[in-house]
Amino acid sequence: MHLTFDDGPHPTWTPQVLDILAAEGVAATFFVVGQDVDQHPDLVAAMVEGGHSVQNHSFTHADLTELDQSAIRDELERATASIVSAGAPEPVCMRPPYGAYDSRVTEESQALGMETHLWDRDTRDWTEPGVDSIVDAATRATAGDVILFHDGSGDRSQTVEALPQIIDQLRADGLDFAPSC
Ligand SMILES: [Zn+2]
Repeated sequence: MHLTFDDGPHPTWTPQVLDILAAEGVAATFFVVGQDVDQHPDLVAAMVEGGHSVQNHSFTHADLTELDQSAIRDELERATASIVSAGAPEPVCMRPPYGAYDSRVTEESQALGMETHLWDRDTRDWTEPGVDSIVDAATRATAGDVILFHDGSGDRSQTVEALPQIIDQLRADGLDFAPSC
């Protein structure tokens, strides 16, 4: 079972998510946005400190399929540079914003040593569908699934409220947790 969080780091939501993961003893993967890493490098250091994996979600959260190839490379390179400069290991996975990618995006990711990494279960937490809906979507997951959450880009209070219930319920189903990459 792999919990993944996109669009951070965010000064309000990321610390709350990190506190829950620490209390539950769960390691997760954060796909971070480079320009926000530059604003909050301390939060990326806290992710690393907490035993989490920090990976590349582009520099400006651009739709990479709308860019020319050198701009794609720039988005990915700058995000990696921000992540490394905040103290995390060099990313080995890239999750394209909006899940939008093409062969050029894959090629540029590979050139930087990163696999393109999507998800199996979308909780749709970014639509603020209600805590029960997020819990329901996440707890339909089966062993090995990658579950998508967000710790940035909007009000993530529902995600924060849902998270302990999700972890407890999946554990009760006998599932355990590890970073997805
Ligand atoms: Zn995103």
